[in-house]
Amino acid sequence: TKTYRLDRFIRKHTSIAMGAVRLLVAQQKILVDGQPAQSIHQIIGEFTSVSLNGVNIQNNTARYIALHKPRGIVSATKDAKHSTVLDLLPQHERQGLHIVGRLDFNSTGLILLTNDGRWSKTINDEHKKVPKQYTVTVDKPITSDVITAFHQGIYFAYENITTKPAGLKIISPFTAQVTLTEGRYHQIKRMFGHFQIEVLTLHRFAIGQLHLNDTLSQGQYQCIAPQDVYESV
Ligand code: URA
Repeated sequence: TKTYRLDRFIRKHTSIAMGAVRLLVAQQKILVDGQPAQSIHQIIGEFTSVSLNGVNIQNNTARYIALHKPRGIVSATKDAKHSTVLDLLPQHERQGLHIVGRLDFNSTGLILLTNDGRWSKTINDEHKKVPKQYTVTVDKPITSDVITAFHQGIYFAYENITTKPAGLKIISPFTAQVTLTEGRYHQIKRMFGHFQIEVLTLHRFAIGQLHLNDTLSQGQYQCIAPQDVYESV
């Protein structure tokens, strides 16, 4: 998302000429996040609030929502047939939100939604290696060669890529925790599928340092404060 210098920002949003902004700054007529603007060079971001002569020019708040996705819900903002994760939010919360990382129709667990494109890009940036953690149950015991393969990467012929090193921790013969730093289509199911192991249930319990709150039951959500999300990656 775009940032602007204060004078360019004022010109974009009002009929005031760029050259007149310096005077308005000197007269303390412009407030940036509630404080008198310091300079025409001040950088204005998407979530910086700006007012001129007491009138709001921009006042967008960054919003972050953690949702416990149930089975049978689509990770999309619109779907012709099924309910979407957005449908689980009350109308007044939905405006402008996008999904940070999808889960399959029958997967459950943590879904993040935001209107902050910069943040969601960071979460999804493979180079940032933000861990996404899952609990899976499978139909056959998991052997140690599967662990090795997850660590080394598994070749996906369709995309001609090898998956990034993934963590696999055995909890019991049919249960494991998987840690990914990327999100390919049906990635975990396909990684196990490589060994003819079928994933029966898949639940995401963490993205970065953000863990699904135990008190959130399926279909419930909570708002997260900006400082908490930025500390989380
Ligand atoms: N991998 C999958 O196969 N499904 C998910 O929902 C998430 C990761």
